[in-house]
Amino acid sequence: MRNKVPQQSVKERIKNFFEVALGFSKEEAEGSGGRWEELEKAHLSGIQPAEFTDNINDVPDDIIYKGFVCEETGRAFNITADELKFYRHHQIPLPRNYPDVRTVARIKTLFLIKPFKTKCIFCSKDITSYYPEELGYKKIVCEQCYLREVV
Ligand SMILES: [Zn+2]
Repeated sequence: MRNKVPQQSVKERIKNFFEVALGFSKEEAEGSGGRWEELEKAHLSGIQPAEFTDNINDVPDDIIYKGFVCEETGRAFNITADELKFYRHHQIPLPRNYPDVRTVARIKTLFLIKPFKTKCIFCSKDITSYYPEELGYKKIVCEQCYLREVV
């Protein structure tokens, strides 16, 4: 029988990305038919990201047979043939971090709140809005006008 993957409550989950890092203990993983590998015993020899070039055109084909060590976590990872093909096609440098680290970085950008400069529709004062234009909000007002006109 499979164990349930640990989760945060919704109240906690909306505040951070820690749930991504929650996982099974060794006993839970093995109890669910999974495999457990101790990081200390894992094969961590590999190329340090600083050792390879940023220019994807200079990366040799046999890079897919080599291991890399994540700059942030020290965990080992590989580049697959399809990944290398993708990076070459889009002229993207090889990644320097373990896949999970890259996933968390991508997720963070999805939830990043960006300020936008706009003008109050009542007094034309320059104000900062957190509603991107593409959402289509037209009636954005400053705090003073909101308190006077809306409340
Ligand atoms: Zn105003």
